[in-house]
Amino acid sequence: MKIEVDLVPKDERKEKPSNVLDVPFGTVFSDHMFSMRHDGEKWRDARIHPYGPISLSPAALCLHYGQAIFEGMKAYRRGERVLLFRPEMNFKRFNVSADRMVMPNIEVEVALHSLMELLKLESDWVPQVPGSSLYIRPTMIATEPKLGVRPSQEYLYYVILSPVGPYFKEGFSPVKIYVSDRYVRAVRGGTGAAKASGNYAASLLAGTDATKVGYSQVLWLDALERKWIEEVGTMNLFVRFDDEVATPPLSGSILPGITRDSVLTLINDYGLTAKERMISIDEIIEGLSSGKVREIFGCGTAAIIAPVGSLWYKDTAYEVSNGRTGELTRRLFDDLVGIQSGEREDPHDWIVQVE
Ligand SMILES: *Cc1c(COP(=O)(O)O)cnc(C)c1O
Repeated sequence: MKIEVDLVPKDERKEKPSNVLDVPFGTVFSDHMFSMRHDGEKWRDARIHPYGPISLSPAALCLHYGQAIFEGMKAYRRGERVLLFRPEMNFKRFNVSADRMVMPNIEVEVALHSLMELLKLESDWVPQVPGSSLYIRPTMIATEPKLGVRPSQEYLYYVILSPVGPYFKEGFSPVKIYVSDRYVRAVRGGTGAAKASGNYAASLLAGTDATKVGYSQVLWLDALERKWIEEVGTMNLFVRFDDEVATPPLSGSILPGITRDSVLTLINDYGLTAKERMISIDEIIEGLSSGKVREIFGCGTAAIIAPVGSLWYKDTAYEVSNGRTGELTRRLFDDLVGIQSGEREDPHDWIVQVE
């Protein structure tokens, strides 16, 4: 596939943030983006061009019926080198999301190659400071102008880049999680396992409930019984009960996280038992009072590993690990960050170098 390149003149390029750790997540973008269009038959017009507004018909299907998907991944700097973490998994998942939303696939090699070309050009935007990275947002939207409800025949795919520090303003310190028993995120057979834009629109209202009591993130329960934990806003969840570490199974209503998969592998490497099993909110609440629940943490590309310091459930606040970061949580964070930044050994060949 040939990529046309239209560069911003050197003296018109943006100034990079002086301290990326102070930049709110996802608010600054690099000079260039990648895009291509699907005309109903095939992908065409692959281009790297200046970052900027896109033009859409007000009747574009994505705006009315939400046919839109995205991915989230990061590039890390190691000296002169730029590293990606399991990028082919993101592009495979992108196609799974596309299938669910009746959108065209992009060959994993094509997606990866175009990302590499963009990153080579924008490598100065991959920040150096520990804890920082260049966040990558591949996106696909339905662009056909049409008010009839049916799959679009035209699509736009694009990739934008944003230098970021830690996802939570607290950095690597315990986050507070609000268990929603009023709203649900996804049901089996729905779109919960796809990274589909509408899932996040549907989650916002529960977030406002959480904010009212001073909590930032929502933990979702299953839609039918409102009993089994599913996942957090943008993270999968793990609970350590004494020496068993458990996470909900991929039942179809939760997002199959790449960080989740990596954490399961690392826990096995440590010689601990990692189980994918149903976990009820009651088991967690009981375990918190008996001391059986030793640690809870979330995991996802944006936050990497986020220790949970407290839970809010049915008007009661519960403290987790005395509000501190547990030892397994810390170890997983250090190992994952170490592997992603190229500082630690990479026994599972997760790292792909941009070249
Ligand atoms: C992206 C996402 C995750 C985490 O997936 P990773 O591949 O680890 O980044 C978890 N849950 C939801 C709802 C997500 O959107």
